[in-house]
Amino acid sequence: MNDETLQNYLHLFIKERPALIREIEEYAKENHVPIMDLLGMEHMLQFLRLIQPKKILELGAAIGYSSIRMVQELPDCQVVTIERNPPRIEKAKEYIAKTGSTHQITLIEGDALGAFELVQPHGGFDVIFIDAAKGQYKRFFELYEPLLNDDGVIISDNVLFHGEIFQTIENKRRRELVRKIKEYNEWIQSHPGYDTILFPIGDGVMVSRKKRKG
Ligand code: SAH
Ligand code: MG
Repeated sequence: MNDETLQNYLHLFIKERPALIREIEEYAKENHVPIMDLLGMEHMLQFLRLIQPKKILELGAAIGYSSIRMVQELPDCQVVTIERNPPRIEKAKEYIAKTGSTHQITLIEGDALGAFELVQPHGGFDVIFIDAAKGQYKRFFELYEPLLNDDGVIISDNVLFHGEIFQTIENKRRRELVRKIKEYNEWIQSHPGYDTILFPIGDGVMVSRKKRKG
């Protein structure tokens, strides 16, 4: 079984999305906004159905796609999401309003690394979804982990980075980025406070669950 056969097979089971969701997916494609891979998204939604979180913190809203998908799946859940790119913030606001999600999504505008004070009053979170700058995942984790509830889950997207973590990268900046992703993966896998598994789906979805104390 080759990977393409498997991927095609798995894609057969992805359900049709509402027209507005399709519109956001189309916009992302046309404007090169890196929203979550469809299969990765479906997997994350399934984890969330199992966890039934009441509060999620998302780092990296982009145009609001993943936060909108999450709240549509979880009608009793609040999502706090952070984005620093002004055009994307505008688009996220538009789509959050259009999909009727304003009562469930709080969008914080700015750099996630400088937004702790703004996020803190919204804690504790049942899930933290890390999907912002790929070279900063460890810093995001360390900064926001104190706001995670006991039994909380941290989900990190793009940890396989299109398979580049297995390749030799010529470009120096990119090589450094890939090195940081690999370092994060290894660091979190050996973190004594978390049980972590990397799901080889989409662009690599890593699920880390806080260990129960005692
Ligand atoms: N979660 C979105 C996709 C996010 S793409 C979805 O699946 O629909 C990553 C986003 O993170 C980009 O829009 C980028 O602008 C934003 N970002 C990167 N670093 C950031 C930071 N330090 N603070 C806030 N946003 C950041
Ligand atoms: Mg992503």
